[in-house]
Amino acid sequence: MKPHARVVVIGGGVVGASVLYHLAKRGWRDIVLLERDELTSGSSWHAAGGMHTINGDPHIAKLQKYTIELYPEIEAESGQSVGLHVTGGYMLAGTPARMEWLRMTHARGRYLGLDTEIVSAEEAHAHMPLLDPRHFVGALWNAGDGHADPSGVTHAYAGAARKQGAEIHRFTRVEALMPLLGGGWLVTTDKGEIRAEHVVNAGGLWAREVGRMVGLELPILAMEHMYLVTDDMPEVVAWNRETGREVLHVVDFEGEIYLRQEGRGMLMGTYERACKPWSPVSTPWDFGHELLPPDLDRIAPSLEVGFEHFPAFKQAGIKRIINGPFCFAPDGNPLVGPVRGLPGFWCACAVMAGFSQGGGVGLALANWIVDGDPGFDIHAMDVARYGAWATPAYTDAKVRENYSRRFSIRFPNEELPAARPLRTTPVHDRLAGMGAVFGDAWGLEQPLWFAPPGVKDRLSFRRSTDFEHVGAECRAVREGVGIAETSGFAKYDVAGSGADAWLDCMLAGRLPREGRMGLAPMLNEGGRLIGDFTLANLGGGRWRLTGSGPAEEYHLRWFARHLPADGSVSVTPLGAVLNGLAIAGPKARDVLAALVREDVSSGAFRFMDVRRMTLGAAPALVGRVSYTGGLGYEIWVTPDYHRLLLDLLLEAGAAHGIQPFGSRALNGLRVEKHYGSWAREYRPLYGPLEARLDRFIAYDKPVDFIGREAARRERAAGGAVRLCFFSVDAADADAMGDEPIWRGGAVVGAVTSGGYAHWSGVSVACGYVPKDLAAAEEGWEIEILGDRRPARLQRAPLFDPDGAAMRG
Ligand SMILES: Cc1cc2nc3c(=O)[nH]c(=O)nc-3n(C[C@H](O)[C@H](O)[C@H](O)COP(=O)(O)OP(=O)(O)OC[C@H]3O[C@@H](n4cnc5c(N)ncnc54)[C@H](O)[C@@H]3O)c2cc1C
Repeated sequence: MKPHARVVVIGGGVVGASVLYHLAKRGWRDIVLLERDELTSGSSWHAAGGMHTINGDPHIAKLQKYTIELYPEIEAESGQSVGLHVTGGYMLAGTPARMEWLRMTHARGRYLGLDTEIVSAEEAHAHMPLLDPRHFVGALWNAGDGHADPSGVTHAYAGAARKQGAEIHRFTRVEALMPLLGGGWLVTTDKGEIRAEHVVNAGGLWAREVGRMVGLELPILAMEHMYLVTDDMPEVVAWNRETGREVLHVVDFEGEIYLRQEGRGMLMGTYERACKPWSPVSTPWDFGHELLPPDLDRIAPSLEVGFEHFPAFKQAGIKRIINGPFCFAPDGNPLVGPVRGLPGFWCACAVMAGFSQGGGVGLALANWIVDGDPGFDIHAMDVARYGAWATPAYTDAKVRENYSRRFSIRFPNEELPAARPLRTTPVHDRLAGMGAVFGDAWGLEQPLWFAPPGVKDRLSFRRSTDFEHVGAECRAVREGVGIAETSGFAKYDVAGSGADAWLDCMLAGRLPREGRMGLAPMLNEGGRLIGDFTLANLGGGRWRLTGSGPAEEYHLRWFARHLPADGSVSVTPLGAVLNGLAIAGPKARDVLAALVREDVSSGAFRFMDVRRMTLGAAPALVGRVSYTGGLGYEIWVTPDYHRLLLDLLLEAGAAHGIQPFGSRALNGLRVEKHYGSWAREYRPLYGPLEARLDRFIAYDKPVDFIGREAARRERAAGGAVRLCFFSVDAADADAMGDEPIWRGGAVVGAVTSGGYAHWSGVSVACGYVPKDLAAAEEGWEIEILGDRRPARLQRAPLFDPDGAAMRG
């Protein structure tokens, strides 16, 4: 083994082999993969090899499509068969709600270029003779489904990488990782040492152990998973003979099973409710090519339904039952990317669908290592979507929940209960007493809406029980005054002698003067949006940044990467150290004025002013800004004053009929004002001109801020797309995100988010369309739940288009 490598990939499962292949494809030569045993010695060897393009997150769906389309290429490059069977397949709906979900999935697939079709149960039966159509109401056909040979795929990646000069050392176990002075890692193996600039954790079942070598506790849990393989089935043999085709791939949601042909019989797997973690604390190093004892009792309820839905199985003999472990993150998506504080250490772990996602994960990570950026939006699988709050107990509860619900519908208004409440603020119980219905984001409980006694969310894709109550919350904000908790925002203090210069370089806008705030987009080197903050100049070289809560670790990682080495700048996350409440609406000023000694009249405390004030006895930082789009204030206190602040505001607001409002109302209010939101409208896919944030970019400031040249190029060329807001002639469902936008009989874009603007009485959808179309007012359609609804472009916000209420 050579003493130095540019990259050491730890793990020769499908994921590590794909990372190695993609690095080689990008032209990196000095790259090495270390595998403690034979290749595929973790979960890869006993996988069922099923693959599919559909995923709840369209960006991951694209990577799945990429993965499957890559197989013929790696087969040709390596000369190793991947055993590819692209049979196509059906997702079967047993209930009208599932049918609605399939229609939605079909619509989303359109702009991803997926080849899907909605068919009747009878039609599905005509192509998949084993199913009994009486149990189904319809199906989604997906031409991209199928299966591949897990070992063949892994060896094909490895072989193709080797041909391009990559080295693979089998039977070489990584035992320790030490950071080197000056950068890079000392990789200690049982066969000697190797110095590497970059190390990739593709340890699969042992990814936790590899993480612990660098002091990282990754949120990963292995689960047992079972599938059975039948003896030859006459029905299968007859179908093959008569049609010359294989039996199709099938997912039966109600049965919680998947099926495909294996040899001349069938393979049936389940995601059973009574799921079981495997070796929850650590993975033994001597675990290898062995299987776990099957436990038919655990999967019997699923099999019973399966045998009813696919009666030929009742007569089939079972040839073997496979029970093997594989790893999950709490939300079931991979953990990919660099880790804050560990330069040169990369994750490619928790890939639970390696044969659908392995190619995309390898591509994203190789781009990230080579270019410093994954090249597309992989937010849904970024390791930075979890923080320190994702403890092993949290992970255990969430992974079980996710596994057992793998084939369950998640409604857009459904909040999942496992591991909650986790993080709460001091006003949590008060708000609960006022009827707050909570959701969780970044592990923190946050009010979604306020329900009258006895009213609960009725789970639905359509408007539901909360609709009229959220409407009342919105009207209270527009006509009187509302109060909301804002603790979920991420807050950072930036200080030090170099803070001004550093912020000027990190952020694309102009820095506000002392006592003022500014909207501050942040760009990457490619000029794409990677943050939208409110920046407050607190004076004395101290700055406060406020941004998206769930992006906290993502942003901290970016900051850490760019902090000067001389210690002249510090960035301190204030997460739970600072809590907030916001008041908004035409009466908000009266409420504030009743609690402070300062003059907060319009001229004395202007829009975007920020000041320290004492509300009653509570010392606070007050900013005149509101995400509702009207008059409003964000008030920040330390947790010990949070309850007092709530009491003071409620008391002072009582005379004005103050009403609590939650994040669902806030969504309706912000789309009414055409405000975008992070991870929806604002994401690394778009430039500031495309996102209509160009007025906040100081293209000509003397500082060479990150992304300046790319942003200037975008401005000169005009960008490719534009963010647009539409009024939708909706029926009883509003756009939520990812719906296709139609024009002239073609899908020209996709919705990023939407909602109902209650005060205006308008259903709103926003999304990106080609810039040349962005001026057309008429002729639009938005496909909501499979129904193409007429839509009209909004030229100006529905509320306060000239900013008079906001600035007044
Ligand atoms: C029963 C079953 C059925 C499945 N069916 C499917 C399916 O139909 N479709 C699908 O897409 N997925 C399926 N999966 C999941 C699939 O197996 C995983 O997504 C995939 O194997 C993950 O690959 P990996 O490379 O991340 O991990 P692994 O396959 O676990 O590979 C990790 C490798 O790293 C090596 N390693 C770890 N630590 C070290 C170290 N310190 N030094 C050197 N080497 C090390 C290990 O020996 C191992 O070879 C199934 C899984 C199971 C258990």
